[in-house]
Amino acid sequence: MEFPIEKFKALRTPFYYYDTALLDETLQEVKEHLQPNWQVHYAVKACTNPKILRHVVAAGFGADCVSGGEIQASLDAGFPADKIVYSGVGKSDWEIELGLMVGIQCFNVESVPELEVINELAKNHGKIAQVALRINPNVGAHTHENITTGRAENKFGIAWEDTYNVIERCQQLDHIECVGLHFHIGSQILEMDDFATLALRINELQEMLETYGIRLPNVNVGGGLGIDYDNPDAHPIADFKAYFETFRRYLQLRRGQQLHFELGRSIVAQCGTLVGKTLYVKEGSLKKFAIIDAGMTELIRPALYGAVHKIENLTSTESEECVYDVVGPICESSDVFVKDYRMPKTRRGDLIAIRSAGAYGEIMASQYNCRPLPESFTSEGLCCQ
Ligand SMILES: *Cc1c(COP(=O)(O)O)cnc(C)c1O
Repeated sequence: MEFPIEKFKALRTPFYYYDTALLDETLQEVKEHLQPNWQVHYAVKACTNPKILRHVVAAGFGADCVSGGEIQASLDAGFPADKIVYSGVGKSDWEIELGLMVGIQCFNVESVPELEVINELAKNHGKIAQVALRINPNVGAHTHENITTGRAENKFGIAWEDTYNVIERCQQLDHIECVGLHFHIGSQILEMDDFATLALRINELQEMLETYGIRLPNVNVGGGLGIDYDNPDAHPIADFKAYFETFRRYLQLRRGQQLHFELGRSIVAQCGTLVGKTLYVKEGSLKKFAIIDAGMTELIRPALYGAVHKIENLTSTESEECVYDVVGPICESSDVFVKDYRMPKTRRGDLIAIRSAGAYGEIMASQYNCRPLPESFTSEGLCCQ
């Protein structure tokens, strides 16, 4: 990725930088693989920056939200309400009411008590709520334990065995219309076999339901496609071809069914970079620390999931390399971006890029230690300043 380093030097660090040309290319790539009865709902939680949402709206995608706040942010960005789907294990009444009032496409429902509350609220407002049942397919995914969601022990979704009973329950509720099945097995998944397994599980479920004469118009397979954190320049765009091909090959849609995807990370991760500056280089008795002015308050993934992002020294002119623990300024021992990391020798004032930070980065920023939230810039914004 090319960075406008001279422009960066005039900005206060740390900040987020988004390459919107790469974002647009990524969105185009996704579109090229879509079939006419397929719809992508961008998982807004990955990055809710309005400058990013604008591009996703322009590409014609819908939105996948997990809170009322995200529904509002999506509407504000211009997503049509009827392309918004709403997931989440713990939807509050006001959030459900917001979804009902603006007329979202679908509630992805995760339990019977939730179904009953949606029915009640829809009744109060004289609405019929369209719902898809989020079924826990009991499929493991080869990813970090904190981001698998599709196993029986996870809190998400309705148990596989209960699917038929819950569909029956929907039929008893006058203000609920069950229009689909929904799944989401986890995040940062790079093994296409995991998606193939999901597709086969869905086939199994659809066959079982057909023995009861049930065929729902929508199937939603969630998101979860991973990206290359080690080599963002070699793979700036996720392997959408293999991903979509897997569903095309293994998932048997019934006639008239629509297939929905909820991709988050794979759309925005590579276009985002967190840029900080080296403050101090400290020689400890065991280690050399590169202390930078960005920390877990701007990017919590390393502390939260043990994630490793590629780090680049954008301004170093040194040919010598050193091994550093690259750490932030926050008063937490877990405020470490990476340990024992080899990179060009750094000194005070160097601009440091933490790559692949477009997803679950800026949106997870906090004000811990009374830090200001990071500013953001885009490639198009900086070119015009
Ligand atoms: C988080 C989430 C997604 C997006 O996952 P990615 O790994 O970012 O693609 C999709 N659907 C649901 C229900 C989610 O919770």
